[in-house]
Amino acid sequence: MRPFALDPLFKALTTLPGIGLRFARLFEKLVGGPKVVDLLWHKPIDLVDRRFSPKISEIIPGKVATLRLRVHLHQPPARPSQPFRVLCGDETGMITLIFFHAKLEWIQKQLPRDADVIVSGLIDVYDGRPQMVHPDSIGKPENFDSIATVEAVYPLTAGVTNKHVTKAVRAALKVLPDLPEWNDLAWISKNGWTGWNDAVHAVHIMDNSSALDPTHPARARLAYDEILSNQLALALVRSRQKHRPGRQSKGNGRLRGRIKESLPFALTACQRQALEEIDADMASPSRMLRLLQGDVGSGKTVVAALAMMNAVESGAQAAIMAPTEILARQHAHSLGPWFDAAGVRFVVLTGRSKGSEREVLLDQIRSGTAQVIIGTHAIFQESVEFQDLALAVIDEQHRFGVHQRLMLSEKGKGTDILVMTATPIPRTLALTAYGDMDVSCLTEKPPGRKPVDTRLISADRSEAMIDGLARQIEVGARAYWVCPLVEESEIVDLAAAQTRFMQLQNRFMNRVGLVHGRMKAEEKDAVMEGFARGDIALLVATTVIEVGVNVPEATIMIVEHAERFGLAQLHQLRGRVGRGGEKSYCFLLYHGKPGEAAQARLQMMRQTEDGFLIAEKDLELRGGGEILGTKQSGIPEFRLADLSVHAEYLSVARDDSRLILDRDPELETPRGRALRHLLYLFERDQAIAYLRSG
Ligand code: ADP
Ligand code: MG
Repeated sequence: MRPFALDPLFKALTTLPGIGLRFARLFEKLVGGPKVVDLLWHKPIDLVDRRFSPKISEIIPGKVATLRLRVHLHQPPARPSQPFRVLCGDETGMITLIFFHAKLEWIQKQLPRDADVIVSGLIDVYDGRPQMVHPDSIGKPENFDSIATVEAVYPLTAGVTNKHVTKAVRAALKVLPDLPEWNDLAWISKNGWTGWNDAVHAVHIMDNSSALDPTHPARARLAYDEILSNQLALALVRSRQKHRPGRQSKGNGRLRGRIKESLPFALTACQRQALEEIDADMASPSRMLRLLQGDVGSGKTVVAALAMMNAVESGAQAAIMAPTEILARQHAHSLGPWFDAAGVRFVVLTGRSKGSEREVLLDQIRSGTAQVIIGTHAIFQESVEFQDLALAVIDEQHRFGVHQRLMLSEKGKGTDILVMTATPIPRTLALTAYGDMDVSCLTEKPPGRKPVDTRLISADRSEAMIDGLARQIEVGARAYWVCPLVEESEIVDLAAAQTRFMQLQNRFMNRVGLVHGRMKAEEKDAVMEGFARGDIALLVATTVIEVGVNVPEATIMIVEHAERFGLAQLHQLRGRVGRGGEKSYCFLLYHGKPGEAAQARLQMMRQTEDGFLIAEKDLELRGGGEILGTKQSGIPEFRLADLSVHAEYLSVARDDSRLILDRDPELETPRGRALRHLLYLFERDQAIAYLRSG
């Protein structure tokens, strides 16, 4: 159960003064959640210092000031386009307050004639006379202290003003609990941090702009807390998985040998190394949780196939899962011949397996007739019962989260798990997504690959490129033409892809195909198959092909609006070519003049094909705030931590977490109890479920 101390933080935003039901929706959208704690995580981006309180004779144009004034005269506008003027003064001079579209009643109420008032806002000079346009704050003299402060400036949304947010935050801070310290005290004092409550206060109530810096002790502390909660959660998952009974799968090498004989190539050193690591895990009694990381085309599939033979040789089953129908079919296509060569019985199960066909497949899986199951996450479904699943391989990890990994591992008895990812993630960041796993890396590509000739081309010059494309297609080349799909406007984007498709059709007739996410699976497959056979030479696609289609004969990749893509995406796309022995090309078409960051990305693509280098650069370029293509990469989004600044905390937090769980696996010591607060605070529910209650 959630510790009571946290209750005030988990109340609805509507419990705060000034946030009514209707307003709540705006606030929720703005702060990214419906709870008080979400508001507290909404950090200021700037500040306004209203402590400067001069006499009128001492004001500084261009600077914000808080003035004590007497209202002398109201000057309503002569014409509607003119502002309402209010003349005020003190013993040293006069200043005019300017209001556009102001209502007389409002002015009379706020600034009655002959009243003493406090006014705060930006001072400027017009026609040699000081004025203030739309003061930010107007109050009575007794409110001086609450107006002449340092004001935090928050990110806002239409309908919510900074005043609204400030008022709500102040109220939230009033109910902020004192929580037990969950950090190691030596670590806290080494960094010069304060307790949690003080840190939250310091983020919102500032004295100067240094509090806006992500390295400020208050912000740094909260960032560490968030990262620690992430790492502790993963460590808990890991330790529970490891402690649950696993199984020992040790094959005799009979089937594996047959597959190897059928391969037209020898394994690379790093493929052999990865396989050894997997074999050792599978042979050990504890459960395997291993990530096989390798760039596109680095040869993960064959490693997976050989690992699966371990399971099959020892009399059990293995499954391999892909994130999409196309990829599952693709796997069946590339793995099938190897399994056939070894005499291994396999089935393909996807969402499209229906009716009696599906029943037959389920039966084969249940009885063990099927030794290997290839499919999509349809394999997860409850109706799927395995005879004895020893190994589950999950391909293209970035669509599967920790949660799904866990669900899968519930399926079999101590099933070993191998996750394959082609998303090159900087090493430090990999910890946030896969901190619960061991890692094998395919660092070198199979021999004989030619570098992909990458060129940046302005869309104005695409005619010439299309001429070149036509010549290549005439001599048998196959090419992808990728149109970007931005989630927000799928329909517009789709229209763009369709227009491009029709235009290319005029030139290339029936040699052009189109695939996009809204097509029926059967239609998609038909087009993909046409491309694989070569009937279709030019495949226009939205980014559905991103995830891993393998047509080794394709040698040309054209990316339209390349400036809109992230580095990781571009890298993935380029990885679709250069897979066979032929020289390959990647044309990055850009429209207009790309911004600085986009140019840096495009240049990077020209300079290297090393996925890890590209990933590091990606992190650097994206910097804070706009955190990585999170949805795709499987990297969790952080609210307080900025991984381009706080990444170094990841390994500290990982080590800390492992140490904590070694000493206190159930989080029952005083520090362990405090850490439970941390897990609840950041809603690491998955991990919490693993703790004994109480
Ligand atoms: P990934 O899944 O890592 O993107 P694949 O497993 O699809 O890469 O491998 C890409 C291509 O390289 C496939 O055609 C595969 O048969 C081939 N390949 C794999 N390993 C080797 C190797 N050691 N030598 C030569 N070619 C290989
Ligand atoms: Mg692959």
